[in-house]
Amino acid sequence: LKGTGEGMTATEKEIERALRPLSFEDFTGQAKVLENLKVFVMAATQRGEALDHVLLHGPPGLGKTTLSHIIANELNAGIKMTSGPVLDKPSDLAGLLTNLQANDVLFIDEIHRLNPVVEEYLYSAMEDYKIDIMLDSGPNARTVQIKLNPFTLIGATTRAGLLTSPLRARFGINARLEYYDAVLLTSIVKRSSAILSTPIEEDGAYEIARRSRGTPRIANNLLRRTRDFAQVKGKGIITAEIAEIALRALDVDQNGLDEMDNRILMTIIDKFKGGPVGLSTIATACGDEAETIEEVYEPFLIQEGYLKRTSRGREATEKAYRHLGVVPVYRDGE
Ligand code: ADP
Repeated sequence: LKGTGEGMTATEKEIERALRPLSFEDFTGQAKVLENLKVFVMAATQRGEALDHVLLHGPPGLGKTTLSHIIANELNAGIKMTSGPVLDKPSDLAGLLTNLQANDVLFIDEIHRLNPVVEEYLYSAMEDYKIDIMLDSGPNARTVQIKLNPFTLIGATTRAGLLTSPLRARFGINARLEYYDAVLLTSIVKRSSAILSTPIEEDGAYEIARRSRGTPRIANNLLRRTRDFAQVKGKGIITAEIAEIALRALDVDQNGLDEMDNRILMTIIDKFKGGPVGLSTIATACGDEAETIEEVYEPFLIQEGYLKRTSRGREATEKAYRHLGVVPVYRDGE
């Protein structure tokens, strides 16, 4: 998936880690979510209890993993990281759970992709801090119950709608992360360039910010690439002009849509008369996975008003036509 950090080199991963805020204080944006989390974390700390289980949802790159680390830091607790697809069998989960210290955090990324059998085990772990483990099989089969230390499960997902209701019901805290506006992203870009020791001008930062699809991870990626352009083609300083050169070279257009965003819109308009057209048909025509389009591209295109979701499929809006400079062809009866 784009934006999940796959395909990054070790150095890039290291840089991403260095750019990661470590405390509530450091974290920009998501004010409402943060305000509530601070209260819940403080209350749990004062009572010496584990924080209630937390579900974080929203598009990739908005800070779910970052926030989970921050929560653990602020709780003064340890954190163990895993992800839904990695937990193959109940014993994988048991291994992690039994290694948690009191009030530690277990972070499960992509929690909507848990194996149902593993998910079943999670229920009693979340509810009563215990798990039943099956020993042996056949006639010798017996279960033993293991008591766990109180812990906080933080589940992250890009698709809250795919969570089963029993799992969803077990999260006491449910927070949705929103896309960031350009002002917030500008301060994130400036903070990151300070960490990277790259001088940046205010309008250079703003140019990167406003063309980052509302996403800190993308803003940081574009900043790193722009830094390269500043070094090679400029004087090492990120100005608006250098940002413009870099963003154009990276196929990020004036409205901040990338090549794939534009391909999706163009496909709907060009091949399907503007829609409505089904997601899987779009995916095939664009040469990408339906899941990726739905999780990564579509939410932003919908929020920005380029795309509409109707009961009959996806439709390009007038804004999409204007953006691509295409004149709509009206269908019969419209
Ligand atoms: P997610 O888990 O939602 O996909 P991450 O937590 O991995 O997103 O965030 C991606 C990157 O974006 C992180 O490396 C971090 O540096 C940066 N980031 C995310 N949110 C913020 C924020 N609010 N302030 C500063 N940087 C952020």
